[in-house]
Amino acid sequence: MFRQLLIASIAFLATAAQAQPGRDTIYITGVTVVHPEREGAAVLEPDSTVIIQGQRIEAVLQHAAIELTQGATVIDGRGRYVVPGLVDAHVHFFQSGNLYTRPDVADFNAVVPYAEEVARNQARLDATFRVWLANGVTGVVDIGGPFWNFEVRDRAATVAAAPRMAVAGPLISMVARPQLDLGDPPIIRIDSVEAGLALVKRVLERNPDYIKVWFIHQPGDDLAAQEAIVKAAGDAAHAAGKKLAVHATELVVAKAALRAGADYLVHSVFDAPVDDEFIALARRNKVIYCPTFFVMQGYPLALSNQWHATPEEQRRADPEILAAMDDLNDIPADERPPLVAKLMAEAKPPAAPTVGMQNLRKLLDAGITIVMGTDAGNIGTLHGPSILREMRLMQESGLTPLQVLRSATTDGAKALGMEKNLGVIEAGRLADLVILDADPLADTGNLGRIYRVIKDGKIYDPDVLMKSLH
Ligand SMILES: [Zn+2]
Repeated sequence: MFRQLLIASIAFLATAAQAQPGRDTIYITGVTVVHPEREGAAVLEPDSTVIIQGQRIEAVLQHAAIELTQGATVIDGRGRYVVPGLVDAHVHFFQSGNLYTRPDVADFNAVVPYAEEVARNQARLDATFRVWLANGVTGVVDIGGPFWNFEVRDRAATVAAAPRMAVAGPLISMVARPQLDLGDPPIIRIDSVEAGLALVKRVLERNPDYIKVWFIHQPGDDLAAQEAIVKAAGDAAHAAGKKLAVHATELVVAKAALRAGADYLVHSVFDAPVDDEFIALARRNKVIYCPTFFVMQGYPLALSNQWHATPEEQRRADPEILAAMDDLNDIPADERPPLVAKLMAEAKPPAAPTVGMQNLRKLLDAGITIVMGTDAGNIGTLHGPSILREMRLMQESGLTPLQVLRSATTDGAKALGMEKNLGVIEAGRLADLVILDADPLADTGNLGRIYRVIKDGKIYDPDVLMKSLH
């Protein structure tokens, strides 16, 4: 019966191909298909053929003798693995990852003016898109930035060599960040429900994927009053059919965010073990949770001149950014910002975020949806290859390579709002795939061993993409 179906479907394909000669057809032959949404032996399907027609996956056939359509593109998948395209669920395109990108944390304006840095990032968008694709990332969520974030989304939808993108606009924030205000600030301080609603209204006019709140709670702040602002913003977002994303890194604040209706917690709870109340609220909201471990280390590593490129970064980071990562060597001691001087004097490696790592394990066991996200663009966290730094820390937290992969694919697609079209390799889905030279279930690091990336049915060689940047 199964065999008959196979023959029938191949016959159908052959007919379809005759009508439309194989120009838009891709066969990945003899490949091991990885199904991150499954468990156990069903995860791997060796000796398979993936057939792509146009933008979509047409068929996934195992142990099938297939007559290839003339004119089709054939990728030899023998000895290789194919996974769904990766999603980084937490990035910021207005930041580059270099030292000059967050003057509110470390002010290097005397070395590179902040306006120049942001103009550079805007001018370099097409290159940054290519870097993401070269790293196997076919979808990103920019979870907060200036209003021009919406133009970044438009641009990504226009050029082929770019990841799919979901965006939030400016952060509805509890604190001011005047150092980042160049006329279209990424962070806007809000001190009342009315002011919050006015900003949400402006953002909704741009059709965001998320409304984002920067829920910073400092000693002496009125948590209930802050929660009311977050809830009003969340209610307005939900009424417009949009999701509420919240930055809340302490347990009491994250619980307040969940009570206020958060759909997406964009960071770990770092300060205390999550408890039953947190888990109950997270379940109630069906929340998506993004650990963002490496960014906590990226800042101190880069600002103390202890940041060293990984092999993946040497190969697949934007060379302009990579070249600037050791600029501290050239900045005289008396011109270094106070934080840098302090960190350099201490010269100790940053500690692992132990509580956050324990919380990740606990939340995964509780069935909470985990997505992989780097917070790329922050100092030390480079667009693209930092996904491997992040995924290694997730693996060190006790997740299996399969669980890490699932967070970066099947569940990542949920953060993108595209779970019906992406994140699973099956007929009818959009053809966003990564072909690997090594088994991603043996080690998360094998997700860096990329042979080809396919996005929207187009094939990219990562080395060619990286060469196109120079
Ligand atoms: Zn962020």
